Amino acid sequence: MVKIKVDRDKCIGCGSCASICPKGFEMFEGKAKEKVQEVKKLTCEKDAQEACPVEAITIK
Ligand code: SF4
Repeated sequence: MVKIKVDRDKCIGCGSCASICPKGFEMFEGKAKEKVQEVKKLTCEKDAQEACPVEAITIK
């Protein structure tokens, strides 16, 4: 399983992750939140991570 985590302290609420990967991320109270914290297989989550301007998304 792969773990996905948004560091909400780092997140600046740009919305990129949620628009690139709406099944993985959503905006909540102005910041991003992961919709699922563990997946069997990554799909768009990596693209969202790469698009994050502040490197707030961890995937491992
Ligand atoms: S791309 Fe990064 S900074 Fe932008 S909303 Fe997502 S986690 Fe936050």
